[in-house]
Order: sequence, then structure tokens, then C-alpha cells
Amino acid sequence: GAPANSRTTERVENPAQKEYIPFLETEKDETTLSIVVIGASGDLSRRKIFPALFALFNEDRLPENFTIFGYARIIMTDEELRNMISKTLTCRVDKRENCNEKIDAFLKSCFYHSGQYSSEEHFLGLHKKLKGKEAGRLSNRLFYLAVPPNMFVDVARCAKSRAASENGWTRVIIEKPFGHDTESSRELTRGLKGYLREDQIFRIDHHMGKELVENLLVLRFSNLVFEPLWSRNYIRNVQLIFSEDFGIEGQGRYFDDYGIIRDIMQNHLLQTLALFAMDTPVSLDAEDIRNEKVKVLRSMKPVQLEDVVVGQYKGDSDGNTSYPAYTDEMTVSKNSLTPTFAAATLFINNARWDGVPFLMIAGKALHSKRAEIRVQFKNVPGNLYNQKFGTDLDQARNELVIRIEPDEAIYLKFNNKVPGLGMRLDCGIGLNLLYKARYPRETPDAYERLLIDAIEGERRLFIRSDELDAAWAVFTPLLKELEEKKVAPELYTYGSGGPVGVHYLAAKHNVRWG
Ligand code: NDP
Repeated sequence: GAPANSRTTERVENPAQKEYIPFLETEKDETTLSIVVIGASGDLSRRKIFPALFALFNEDRLPENFTIFGYARIIMTDEELRNMISKTLTCRVDKRENCNEKIDAFLKSCFYHSGQYSSEEHFLGLHKKLKGKEAGRLSNRLFYLAVPPNMFVDVARCAKSRAASENGWTRVIIEKPFGHDTESSRELTRGLKGYLREDQIFRIDHHMGKELVENLLVLRFSNLVFEPLWSRNYIRNVQLIFSEDFGIEGQGRYFDDYGIIRDIMQNHLLQTLALFAMDTPVSLDAEDIRNEKVKVLRSMKPVQLEDVVVGQYKGDSDGNTSYPAYTDEMTVSKNSLTPTFAAATLFINNARWDGVPFLMIAGKALHSKRAEIRVQFKNVPGNLYNQKFGTDLDQARNELVIRIEPDEAIYLKFNNKVPGLGMRLDCGIGLNLLYKARYPRETPDAYERLLIDAIEGERRLFIRSDELDAAWAVFTPLLKELEEKKVAPELYTYGSGGPVGVHYLAAKHNVRWG
């Protein structure tokens, strides 16, 4: 059968070994997997979950016996669900490829059951249908809760009491938001734990499924050249940037309740920071990794208001109606103070990182779409070239950039002599690992990685409840203060670089933005 963690085998360079290993071969005929997508009629299901499930099927990563059930309140036949799903499926690996046969085979395993999210009776109806498809085999059941979060506990209750597997495992995937602050997050955790054990709950942060975020551990712990530099001794500051070049178009109702700090910083950026900054785990086991992440999070001071800049986008200066202000959104109040942009400086109080600023930037309606980590190194002490030539090399520090998206890349800037008789130094991109040049095969969508991990019981990219609690502790006091003091966000123009205040924040910590 496949090794316990078949992911390692995908990374082997030998092309003969590049094939994916099919799911648990030894259990081929005896086991069946049922995946239930709760909220199947919604945006997340259609855009991400069904396409990711098909991509896994297309690459033979689903077990031989599997069934997918969509569940939502809307009345639909199996055929109508299949029609809906089929519109979003593609042959991801190679878009030119024809995978119609595979699509047909996949759709034959998709069914639909209509029901209310809090009705045990309707979940019992689902259970009966699932049993019919499982045909007496050992059955594992995975529930993906793609519904608004106020439904999570009801669904967990009904799934547990009426539709749990009788002889295999039952797992539940949920996605952010996990509460609004420390208290509501704890309440959600308590609610879920009334029906599920912690090891049955898979909290997704889809940013963690992105190739370059996952690669952080490989970069740090399987290369000699990075890890020894990974501390306050050599690193001057770290920047975590997540910018989008579009506003909240259509998502106003959700976004206005949460804002950018809850939507991006408290989860995606803080999770990335924890992976970036944690100490070497005892092993690659999920619990060992998550233990180290929790230690980093618990070593962080709560973010201080004076270390934060919040902003909100306004329409573009030409009065171009295609770039509306945030408060022009139908579902957003004209007086909304919800930040669509935030920059914050965070510190980790431990021996490795004491005094090193970690700067986070997250914003919507900015000039570019990118997610990256920029690591700026300290100046060379007693730099010989400054002494001899008086050149101002302060501007030319080494910088390592990990670009998560778009165009995944890792590049390093270092000083180099410009060829010629004189002595001029150039600190441009010296080494550049551009993924699309080095790895022409398209990288899987984050949801594919996370779904296969949930199926295989690999928890390292999912968030444990104590991690979640520690992450909220970093931001909850700030969020409360922003709300209580009604801090007005600084306005910035749609498509610009964000509020001017960011530059003051950066200057305060002696940082040049990348
Ligand atoms: P939707 O708003 O599209 O809702 C999903 C389904 O839930 C709907 O099709 C509807 O199905 C049902 N539903 C909607 N509103 C209610 C309500 N008030 N009461 C009961 N049922 C309702 O959500 P998304 O698909 O966008 O997201 C699902 C979950 O994933 C949410 O928790 C969201 O926060 C999270 N998420 C979504 C992302 C995305 O890209 N969309 C990204 C990250 C997280 P029906 O009426 O047929 O029952």
C-alpha cells in the first residue's frame, strides 16, 4: 500500500517515481469514502470544492470506492447538481488535455440530498442514502461545511447524531471565520466539541495549502544555508504582504462584519508567520509542528494600536464609476469604519526573535495582487567596501523574497560587482527560482492539498484549537480597541499603494517596504 505519508514520494526528483501513488491500495475494495459537501449550492462549493475533488479524482488520488453528496436546502435532482458542478470542472494538470471521460465518470459518483442544516430527520435521510451507496463496506465519512459559520454547530450536531459513519472515521472540515474574537472563537470550539473530538475537526486556512507556504519548512529545515541565518543575529525585519487589486465586490455583507484584520491577518498572515518563525520541530508529525507554532504565537505580544495603520479605499480620483469606494457597496453602511487595509508591526518575545519587527500588510483595492514574504538581512558589519569607496551600501542589503502568488518564486538579492574596470556594486536579484520555469507542471490548488490531507488524516496544515486561541489572543485586544475608540481608517484611493501612514509605520521601525 501507499506509505503513511505518501506526500513525500511526490517530491522525488527521479521522473520514474513522479507518478502519484493511488490512495491506500491495500484497502481498495474493502473501504469506501463518502464526501458530503454541506452548502453544495454555494459559491465556495462551486468554485473550489467540487473542482478540487475532481482534480483529485483525475489524478487517481481518491480511493477506488467513493461517493460525493451535495447537501443544501434548495431542491435539486442529482442530475441538476451534476449540471451545476460540470460547469466548473477543468483538466487542471494540462488545460489542453481532454478529460471528458473522467468528468463523466466523476459526475456518476455525485449525488444530491436536500435538507435543512439543523434537521436531524433530514440528516437521517442523508445517512440512509449514504448507506445505500456504501454497500456494507467499511465506510469513512468526510463532511465539508461550506455554509455560513452560524450553521457549523447545528450541522456538527446533526451529522454526529444521524449521519456519522458506523464503522469508520467521521471528519468535519470547516473554514474561517472561526469566530469574531477570542470569546466567540472559544464558544464555537466548545459548541463543536459538544459533538466532535478535536481529532475529527479539520480547520482549514487555505493559505496554508499554497505551495510556497508549505515549502517554508523545506526551505528552512532541509537546507544548510538558510536556517543558521534565521534569527535576530542576521535578520533585520520580516515583511508579510497580502494585497489584492480588487475591492470587496459583492461580499460586502460578510466583509463589513469582519474587516481585513480578521479576514487576512489573524489567520493567513499569522499562520504564515508562525511557520516562518517557529523553532525546529521534534519531527514532521503534525502535533510536533503545531506545538512549535503555538509556542511562537504564545510568545507574541498582543498587537498595540500605535503599531497599526488602518485604511479604507475610496473611489478612484478620476471619478471612474468602475472603481467604487468601499462605502458605495450596497451592503455597506455609508459610515462604515471597517478597515479594508491594515499594516501592523508584531514582535516575538523569544531568544531567536527579540526586537525583530515583523511587518504585516493586508489590503484590498491596491495597485497589485501579491502575497509574499520578504526577509531583509542586516548590514554587513565593518563593510570593507563602505570603508574603501565610501559607497552607501546601507541601501543594498541582502533580501530573500518568497513570492507565494502570483508567479511563485524564491529569489535572493545580493551584492555583485558590475563587470568592468571600476568598482561598482549591484544589489539586484542574484538568484531566482521561478517556479513556472523550473516546474512546468501546474501547481495544485490549495484546496486539493488540504482535501487530500483531510482524507489521509494528515493534520499538519490544519489549525488546532489551542493555536486558534493563541492567534486570537494576538489580535483581540487591538480589534476591541479599534471598535471601542471608533478609530477612523485613513482613506486611500482604489488602485493605489495604500494609506500614507504605512510609510510612517515603516520608518518608525527603520524598514523600507519591499
Ligand atoms: P454562501 O453564502 O454561498 O453560502 C453557502 C450555502 O449556504 C448557500 O448556497 C445556501 O444554500 C446556504 N446559506 C446561505 N445563507 C444561509 C443562511 N443565512 N442560513 C442558512 N443557509 C444559508 O457561502 P460561501 O459558499 O461563499 O462560503 C461557505 C463558507 O466558507 C462560509 O463559512 C464562508 O465564510 C467560508 N469561506 C468562503 C470562501 C469563498 O471563497 N467563498 C473563502 C473562505 C471561506 P441553500 O440556501 O441552498 O441551503
